[in-house]
Amino acid sequence: MADEARSQGPRCARCSGPSVREARTRELTGSGQKVFYLAYLWSCSICGNKWVDDGLERLNAGAAQGARALAQRAS
Ligand SMILES: [Zn+2]
Repeated sequence: MADEARSQGPRCARCSGPSVREARTRELTGSGQKVFYLAYLWSCSICGNKWVDDGLERLNAGAAQGARALAQRAS
Protein backbone atom coordinates (compact mmCIF):
# COMPACT_ATOMS: atom_id res chain seq x y z
CA MET A 1 0.00 0.00 0.00
CA ALA A 2 1.20 3.48 -0.82
CA ASP A 3 0.41 4.80 2.64
CA GLU A 4 2.45 2.09 4.27
CA ALA A 5 5.42 2.74 2.00
CA ARG A 6 5.35 6.42 2.81
CA SER A 7 5.35 5.88 6.57
CA GLN A 8 8.20 3.38 6.34
CA GLY A 9 11.28 4.98 7.78
CA PRO A 10 15.00 4.54 7.32
CA ARG A 11 16.78 1.52 8.76
CA CYS A 12 17.64 1.56 12.42
CA ALA A 13 21.27 2.52 13.07
CA ARG A 14 21.47 0.13 16.01
CA CYS A 15 20.01 -3.10 14.62
CA SER A 16 19.17 -2.14 10.99
CA GLY A 17 15.56 -3.09 11.60
CA PRO A 18 12.64 -1.35 9.89
CA SER A 19 11.25 1.79 11.46
CA VAL A 20 7.84 3.40 11.49
CA ARG A 21 6.89 7.02 11.91
CA GLU A 22 5.42 8.03 15.24
CA ALA A 23 3.85 11.29 16.30
CA ARG A 24 4.33 12.79 19.73
CA THR A 25 2.70 15.81 21.24
CA ARG A 26 5.27 18.45 22.04
CA GLU A 27 4.92 21.62 23.97
CA LEU A 28 6.18 25.03 23.04
CA THR A 29 6.74 27.38 25.90
CA GLY A 30 7.30 30.70 24.30
CA SER A 31 5.39 33.89 24.90
CA GLY A 32 3.71 33.01 28.20
CA GLN A 33 1.19 30.51 26.85
CA LYS A 34 1.57 26.83 26.15
CA VAL A 35 1.31 25.71 22.57
CA PHE A 36 1.03 22.08 21.56
CA TYR A 37 2.00 20.58 18.24
CA LEU A 38 2.71 17.17 16.77
CA ALA A 39 6.34 16.21 16.29
CA TYR A 40 7.40 13.13 14.35
CA LEU A 41 10.08 10.60 15.10
CA TRP A 42 11.23 7.28 13.68
CA SER A 43 10.73 4.29 15.90
CA CYS A 44 12.48 0.98 15.26
CA SER A 45 9.99 -1.88 15.36
CA ILE A 46 12.69 -4.34 16.42
CA CYS A 47 14.66 -2.72 19.24
CA GLY A 48 12.56 0.36 20.01
CA ASN A 49 15.30 2.83 19.13
CA LYS A 50 13.89 6.30 18.40
CA TRP A 51 15.49 9.07 16.44
CA VAL A 52 14.84 12.07 14.23
CA ASP A 53 16.53 12.60 10.87
CA ASP A 54 16.93 15.77 8.82
CA GLY A 55 13.61 15.34 7.04
CA LEU A 56 11.63 14.94 10.25
CA GLU A 57 13.62 17.73 11.88
CA ARG A 58 12.44 20.07 9.13
CA LEU A 59 8.88 18.77 9.40
CA ASN A 60 8.88 19.31 13.17
CA ALA A 61 10.35 22.78 12.85
CA GLY A 62 7.58 23.66 10.41
CA ALA A 63 4.92 22.29 12.76
CA ALA A 64 6.35 24.29 15.66
CA GLN A 65 6.39 27.42 13.57
CA GLY A 66 2.81 26.87 12.47
CA ALA A 67 1.67 26.30 16.04
CA ARG A 68 3.40 29.47 17.16
CA ALA A 69 1.79 31.49 14.38
CA LEU A 70 -1.65 30.10 15.28
CA ALA A 71 -1.15 30.97 18.93
CA GLN A 72 -0.17 34.50 18.07
CA ARG A 73 -3.21 34.93 15.90
CA ALA A 74 -5.46 33.65 18.72
CA SER A 75 -4.09 35.98 21.36
ZN1 LIG B 1 16.58 -1.11 16.02
